[in-house]
Order: sequence, then structure tokens, then C-alpha cells
Amino acid sequence: KLLKATKDAERNVKKGDAVVYWMRMGDLRITDNRALSLASAHAKKTDIPLVVVFILSPQDYKAHDRSPRRIDFTLRNLALLATSLGKLHIPLHIITQSNRRAIPNKVISFLEELSASAIYANIEYEVDELRRDTQISKAAQAKGIGAIFVHDKCVVEPGAVLTKENKTYSVYSPYQKAWLKKLNANIPYFLENCRQPHPNSESVRTTAKFGPLFDSLVPESVPGFELDPADRAKMEQVWPAGEAAASEMLRRFLRTKSRSSQLAAVDPLADGAEDSAKRSRISVYDAERDRADKDTTSRLSPYLSAGVISARACIRATMPDTKNAKVDGGRWIQEIAWRDFYVCILAGFPRVSMGRPFQEKYADIVWEGPALEGSYADELNPKAELSLATAESNIEKWKSGRTGYPIVDAGMRCLNEMGYMHNRLRMIAAMFLTKHLMIDWRIGEKYFMEKLIDGDLASNDGGWQWCASTGVDACPYFRVFNPYNQSSKADPTGDFIRHFVPELASVRGPDLHNPPAAAANKLGYPRPIVKHEESRDRALRRFKNVGSA
Ligand code: FAD
Repeated sequence: KLLKATKDAERNVKKGDAVVYWMRMGDLRITDNRALSLASAHAKKTDIPLVVVFILSPQDYKAHDRSPRRIDFTLRNLALLATSLGKLHIPLHIITQSNRRAIPNKVISFLEELSASAIYANIEYEVDELRRDTQISKAAQAKGIGAIFVHDKCVVEPGAVLTKENKTYSVYSPYQKAWLKKLNANIPYFLENCRQPHPNSESVRTTAKFGPLFDSLVPESVPGFELDPADRAKMEQVWPAGEAAASEMLRRFLRTKSRSSQLAAVDPLADGAEDSAKRSRISVYDAERDRADKDTTSRLSPYLSAGVISARACIRATMPDTKNAKVDGGRWIQEIAWRDFYVCILAGFPRVSMGRPFQEKYADIVWEGPALEGSYADELNPKAELSLATAESNIEKWKSGRTGYPIVDAGMRCLNEMGYMHNRLRMIAAMFLTKHLMIDWRIGEKYFMEKLIDGDLASNDGGWQWCASTGVDACPYFRVFNPYNQSSKADPTGDFIRHFVPELASVRGPDLHNPPAAAANKLGYPRPIVKHEESRDRALRRFKNVGSA
């Protein structure tokens, strides 16, 4: 609906006094930004100013369980963007809108105040956001204002590759093949960076209509999402804001040189070695990407989730600088394809963004513990075996990293401390919660969103549903990770566990992955809250018997 309305809008736009680009939480950049580039071209062609607006919407953040870290990262990026846009005489106007339902009216009245001819935005694929934009599109059209919504988030946009039956892919491997084929069939288009915005004339700053927009201040925090100062300082150091920082992170991954040796002091995830590696991270990614004790992945997810760098730019940077270059489909590129895949799942199966399992048959799984507030499972499952208190205590132990499984605890403490977790650890922690503790995946999904700086509904839900085996079909329910085996593969040196679980700092060798009772008691480390084999069997039973009376 939105894309069709956009086509009509492009034909019927009236002349006005300004063109507006609505920057969203997922496109915080100037470079290679489709909606911004189109808005700027429109403004230039019709010789009117470009205005950038950002809407702070605390109710939306609450509805999406946004973490204060992600909000803070947004604000830090906006502050830098205000300066960069200001140099182009383009105002970044911030509107705070507490009632999310009032956003469409607010947008329309802003457009009317400016006598804007058009508004441009990159599409957000969540259900509520699509509904909101469709409403805005209709209202704008009725007033002769163009509302243009374009794809930007993905490398290959949702809907561009479909199965033979014209359906959204729900299996990754064939999707990835089709994705790569599509990409390589459109290389000239893909290689073309979206144009940088043209500057406005300097005189815009002194006009009665546009001048005051330059006075808009990016707030330090959003009420209800404040970060404590120590956490904020750490996030600033580990995840610096801005497009230059994102590009530096990408360079770090592609070249042999590490980001910065002094960061190792505040960032235990970074190896801090200056030029020490002979080979680039990307060249050893396939072999080493699952090592949580080494700094082997790109750590670009906060920047990709917030759109501080485009996924297109990441792929382009891996390509040889030759005329007939193709995207090679190597392991790292495949991970970017996973990101696109989960956006397609979200767009093609909107129920997943409303807390429903992708595989509906698993809606009736007997989970232990509390029901999520506002979720469809609104009462305690009568077939649950544990008391509510025990299940709640298990959840708390999982959250705070006190399950007695060192790799799970190290991962969770890392999440709590750094706002980030290595992919393998996310899988181990998520599978532990859903299979070993039999806790509803939505409880874990929500907790991750509240803590992650890279929290993204599509990837987070996709990852959680995969681990809980309720999602797209790659992970059958009988696949239950053995946390001890996973631990020795993900952290063979033990450096990761020893750092995040300091109680175990003195333990060496295989004991670190499964500390003997006497040693654990002496060191004050908890005993496992469940037994691996028993809980595995319970999970298999529950999944197998789903739906049976
Ligand atoms: P790299 O290994 O360098 O990969 C490059 C990029 O590819 C990542 O930055 C990311 O954008 C994308 N990517 C990599 N793996 C995946 C994947 N499995 N699914 C989707 N995209 C992927 N990623 C998020 O960005 N936000 C989330 O909220 C999120 N929640 C997750 C929850 C669970 C339970 C699981 C299992 C995975 C989740 N992921 C999420 C995916 C993945 O763990 C992170 O993207 C990755 O760890 C980020 O580290 P990196 O940037 O170094 O990744």
C-alpha cells in the first residue's frame, strides 16, 4: 500500500516552500542514505530548502523495549548529525511526541506549517510503523503533499526475491542464493552510492520560517531512558558515535590494523593489538567467527542497527576495485544476508513482530514461569511444573549471570556490562533460557532488547525464535546445545569466561567450563541451577507433545 501510494505521490506533488526528510532511528547517517538523497534532489530541482526532522517518541521506545543504551546512542549520533547538516545549512529539527498515536497529525501539521511540497522517509518494516506511515501517506496526499517512502535498510529489499510460488522465503539457504544472484545481477545500481545532500543556501538560516529550526537542540537524554553516567561514559568509549567511527570500525575489520590499543583497557572484547595480526579479520572470519575469546568479528551491529553505516557500504568495501567486480558471497557477506533475511521475515510474516511464533504450532508450548505482560499468553500455563517463584528465580539468575554454567554467565554478564554479546554467546544464552529453563523466548527477547546497544526487532526476534525452535526452520526442536561443549569451542583459552566471571579467574583447563563442586563452592561460584541431560529431555518432551491434551 505504502509503495503504491508513493508512486501516486511522486506524480501529484504540488510546489511548496520546503522538502522534508524524516530521519528515523534506523538511518542515522548522511552518506548513502536513499530517502535523504532523493529529498535533497527534489529540493535542489525545485530550488527550495531541505529540512531534516527527527521525532523522539518515548511511547514507541517503550513499546519496542528500546534500551537506554540504544536511545543514548541515537542521541549521540543525532548531535553529530546536527553539526554535519548545519555545515550544509540544513536544519535538523527535533520534535518530541509523547503520544505515539498523535504522530501522524503532528507530522502533517509540521508539513503544513512549512508549506512543504513533500516528505521523504526510509521504510520501517514493523507493523505499527507501517500502519502509521500509511496513515501519513493518505493524509499528506489529501493535502497535495507528496509522501515518499523508500526501501533503504536492506541490501536486497524485502519482496525483491521470492520463491517460485511468489512467496517470501522462509528457509535461509535458497534465500541467500537468490539474494546473491539478485545482487550480482544489479551490480551497477548496487555500486552507486546514493548522492550526498546538496547544501541549502546560507540565507535559509535567517528566514523567519526556517531560521528557528536551526535552534533545535538534541536533548542529553529521553525521560524514562536515562543512562547512569558511568554506563554512558563506557558506551561512549566502546561504541563511539558517528559515521567516521562506523567507517573506522569497518576498516578495522577489513585491514590488519586494530581499532586502538588504548581501548583494550575499557573494552575487554577488543584485542587492542596494534598491527599485530598478519591477516585481516575478514580473511579469517570463516574459521574464527565463533571464537568469543578473540576479537574476530566486525562489531558493526550497533552501527548497522542504527543505520550509521549502510549495509550496502559494508559489502561494497569488501569488493575488489575492478570494473567487473562481483559480490563473492563469502561467510561475512552471508551474515549480512541473514540480516536482510530476518527483515524479509518480519515484513512477510507480520505476526512475528506482534509476539507470535513463526511456526504457529508452537504457540501452545508449555513454558515455565510468568506470562509476558501484554503478550497473547496472558496467564500462567496450568501445565507448568515449577512454581512461579522458582521459575522467576531462574530467570533472575539467567539475567544476572548466576546459572552455574560459566559460558552462559559470562555471556550474560558481558551483555549487562557492554550492551553487546558475541553471536555464538547469544545463541548459547538464548537456547539455555528456552530449552534448559523452558522459559518463553519472549522474556529473553525483551531482556536482550532492554540491554543491547544494537537491539533490532527483526534480528533479535529472528535469533530468539531460531534458538527456541519456533522460528524459520533451520533449527529443529531436538537441537539443544550442550553448554559445556559449546563453551570449550567458543572460549578454548578460557580468557572470556575468566574476564567476565572473576570468581573463576584462577581456574585453568577444562574445569573452567564445568567447575567441580568443591572448587566452585570454594570460589563462591553457583552450582548449575539445572542439569543438562534432564532439562534437555524435558525440552524434547515438551516440543514433541505440543498441543496434546
Ligand atoms: P559480524 O559477525 O561481524 O556480522 C556482520 C553483520 O551481519 C552484523 O553486524 C549484523 O548486522 C549481521 N549479522 C550477523 N549475524 C547475524 C544474525 N545471526 N542475524 C542477523 N544479522 C546478523 N543482531 C542485531 O544486530 N541486533 C539484535 O538485536 C540481535 N539479536 C540477536 C539475538 C539472538 C538470540 C541471536 C542469536 C542473534 C542476534 N543478533 C542480533 C545477530 C548477531 O548476534 C549480531 O548481529 C552479531 O553478533 C553482531 O556482531 P558483529 O557486528 O561483530 O557481527
